[in-house]
Amino acid sequence: MKLSYEEIEDKFKELFESYPDVSEPKYKKIIDKMKLEGKLSIYINFDDIIDFNFDLSEQLLSSPEEVFPAAIDALKEVYGAEQGKRLAVRITNLPITERIDIKDIRAVHINKLIQVEGVVRRTTEVKPEIIEAVFECERCGDFITIYQDSIIFKPPITCSNPSCGRNGPFKLMKMHSTFVDWQSIKIQEKPEKLRGGQLPRSLDCTIKEEIVDTAQPGNVVTIVGILKTLQEGAGKTGGKKTTFSKFLEVNSIEIKEKDIQDLELSEEDEEKIRELASDPKICENITNSIAPSIYGNQHVKYAVALQLFSSEARLLQDGTRIRGDSHILLVGDPGVAKSQILKYMNMVAPRSIYTSGKGTSAAGLTAAVIRDETSGTFALEAGALVIADNGIACIDEIDKMSNDDRSSIHEAMEQQTVSIAKAGIIATLNARASILAAANPKRGRFDSYKPLGEQIDLLPTLLSRFDLIFILTDKPKESEDKKIAEHILKLHSNEEDNITPPIETETIRKYAIYSKKTIQEISLTDEAKNRLLEFYVSIRKKGEEKNTPIPITARQLESLIRLSEARARMRLSDKVMVEDVEEIIQLYMKSIEDIGKDPETGEIDIDMIMTGRPKSQRDKITIIMEIISNLDKKSNNEGALISELYEEARAENISDSFTRKIIDELKQKGDVYEPRPDRLKLTLM
Ligand code: ADP
Ligand code: MG
Repeated sequence: MKLSYEEIEDKFKELFESYPDVSEPKYKKIIDKMKLEGKLSIYINFDDIIDFNFDLSEQLLSSPEEVFPAAIDALKEVYGAEQGKRLAVRITNLPITERIDIKDIRAVHINKLIQVEGVVRRTTEVKPEIIEAVFECERCGDFITIYQDSIIFKPPITCSNPSCGRNGPFKLMKMHSTFVDWQSIKIQEKPEKLRGGQLPRSLDCTIKEEIVDTAQPGNVVTIVGILKTLQEGAGKTGGKKTTFSKFLEVNSIEIKEKDIQDLELSEEDEEKIRELASDPKICENITNSIAPSIYGNQHVKYAVALQLFSSEARLLQDGTRIRGDSHILLVGDPGVAKSQILKYMNMVAPRSIYTSGKGTSAAGLTAAVIRDETSGTFALEAGALVIADNGIACIDEIDKMSNDDRSSIHEAMEQQTVSIAKAGIIATLNARASILAAANPKRGRFDSYKPLGEQIDLLPTLLSRFDLIFILTDKPKESEDKKIAEHILKLHSNEEDNITPPIETETIRKYAIYSKKTIQEISLTDEAKNRLLEFYVSIRKKGEEKNTPIPITARQLESLIRLSEARARMRLSDKVMVEDVEEIIQLYMKSIEDIGKDPETGEIDIDMIMTGRPKSQRDKITIIMEIISNLDKKSNNEGALISELYEEARAENISDSFTRKIIDELKQKGDVYEPRPDRLKLTLM
């Protein structure tokens, strides 16, 4: 039964004043509070409307544009609003049947009230929009009000004054017109809704009045709104088309603060997970189940498995925050399955995105201010790390990222925020993602005799922010080659069960969700603490004794704690045991051997990552500079003779080729110059 405008208004009045009970009117109380606080919106849970009057609830879903004005009139009456006050009735929690996936929105939803969920990709600045335009007829001087109910501006056609009735000209009287706040946002499907590298669909939403500027890029939001259409080509030359673009007129928007994973775990699932966890070999089993199609690389699989669990961020007393997410970088030759591992992780992680360093959108990896094509205003767009908030960002070929990203990714990795201030838009967005990145060496193949920093196009400051870096090389080794080949051939035959992992992918995803949900506060046992302390101090001491550079810093200690906590979580425990620490130290040493070993001395040296040069080389450079300085003095500041420099360097066991290379580098950097072709002088000093 269809209700009339008056009936709807009466029903809403009744709902406000006497639901669920005249003595306890839930919404009347809320309205009184609204009044006190100067708020203009009332939020009604749709369940209450169903409970109150089923017909009304049905009509609200099918003809929201008829129902809302009547509901607002009812609210105005109960509120006792003075003329011109713009109150709003906002609905939350539509039934499951009206919750539509962005990709499933179709013509049947036009002009209906629907609920969608997504992650905010883009927000425009807030602008005034005219909703009641007052015009003056320049012939007779009468005022005409035109209600602006669509995006396209409507002037009057003829003067409404019966004694005039002419068609203008009309002048817009901005002083007498009514404006409201307006904003447009774009939402897209949540990362966890996308499987196997699908591209996300997006939906434009317009927001008005009190609720503008509530959501930020990266927020996961639930929106109730009316699906509207706009004729394409309208207002442009070339004429109107028969197709329409769609957008959602937002009625209510809720931000999901703590994004609980959607995937509901059944009793059975949980039981199975607890049983798996009771196996003392659980960590091994999970590791062996990661990317079963890839042979070997056990330590890499272990590391990425730990990333699935990660730790919780810690808020310190002084307000600083230490991240709980671990970042992992895989560097290496082409064709060693780096991309494959990233893609696998994107598939198994409960929430993740896969992107290349170049990024798939204008916003790249972090965020950007762009011009919104539809509205022509500036908009803030979230990049991959913001969209992957609370999940894993798999970034392939991170060495190819844009210069803008290069400067903002440091903040994203350590503070896990992205700050932007451009074209009047200032914002700080959350980017609490674990990064799993892959990079290729600059010159195609990895050269294990050169330090890492020289080989990839990433700054040492960036490299030092990764908790673990592994180098995957493609060195021919007969026994290994045969095994990999056999493994790959097996995949291409039909003996599938030969590569069946101990735990299937779907179960691992559920396991990760369960452990994150149930294990929230993780602490280190005293033994675990002592072991970490002992390891840290012993390595620091080794550095001190041998006068080698400091091989470990506080940042690496934090990494070790994080990873140990992740391992405890992997066992479904909130206590870090000494075994956890032991295993993480092993994994860490493996990573350090990959990246921090000085190819000349065999010593491990963290500074090498920072400076991109092993200490043995740094020492030699210092020696060369000293020789130049001494020879210069000896020759009464005429400059060091290059031939003598080679000679003295040779006496210090430095090869001619190395000396030549260093001279070239120093000249390039401007640290030395040639006063004459055969002489060198230091620029400074
Ligand atoms: P990368 O990104 O390191 O250049 P890819 O991930 O594109 O390499 O891998 C190239 C191909 O080689 C993939 O099909 C991958 O499955 C295969 N491959 C490389 N290493 C292995 C391995 N250890 N086991 C199984 N397959 C491998
Ligand atoms: Mg690749």
